[in-house]
Parts: sequence; structure tokens; C-alpha cells
Amino acid sequence: MGLARGSGPNGSRPRYGHLDAVRTVVPLRCDHLDAVRPVVPQSEVCEQCKAEGLDPVALRLCLSCGWVACSDGSPGRHARAHYEETDHAVNAEIATGPATRWCYVHQRAV
Ligand SMILES: [Zn+2]
Ligand SMILES: [Zn+2]
Ligand SMILES: [Zn+2]
Repeated sequence: MGLARGSGPNGSRPRYGHLDAVRTVVPLRCDHLDAVRPVVPQSEVCEQCKAEGLDPVALRLCLSCGWVACSDGSPGRHARAHYEETDHAVNAEIATGPATRWCYVHQRAV
């Protein structure tokens, strides 16, 4: 309580311009989408989970090659492993609703 201050015209402190310079610029467009093409899912399950006896929570479809693997929320995280092996950065959630695409490089939905 009573900490609110600096609302007057002279209350602003000098800004440090170099901090703005080093701030990472996030591009609006994900250029990894250039690698995305119409793909046919290679399977209906995560084959690696099947081989290892794991239970995937959700599946994702690699939009570069059609590889199907489990999401980061699954114990196997095989979609991430596929990205690390292949640099296929963008995959899509396999869901009944509208699909969400995710770019591992940009670490956001694209
Ligand atoms: Zn990207
Ligand atoms: Zn898996
Ligand atoms: Zn792939």
C-alpha cells in the first residue's frame, strides 16, 4: 500500500536503448512453413510408442514427411525426437477439431 507513485510528468525514468536492441525479434511469419507440403500420414499410431509399449497422450503429424509421433505431453515425446533427427520443424496436432500447427524452431503455433 502507498507504493503507487511516479504518475507526474517527471516521474518517468530514463530508458536504456541497448536493451531494446538485444531483445529478440520474433518474426511474424514462420518460414519453416515453406517446408510444409500436403502429406499423407504414414501411420495411425506412434510406431515408436507401439514398439516401446508407451501410451501416447496425443499424436502429431509431421507436415514435411507425414511421420506420425506422439506429442510433448506424451511420455515418449517422439514428435520432438523426430524434429531433432530430421529438422522437420512444423507438425500438426491430429485432432478431431481444427488442427493446430506447431513450429519447434519458433516454439509457437504457426
Ligand atoms: Zn518456424
Ligand atoms: Zn511416441
Ligand atoms: Zn518429418
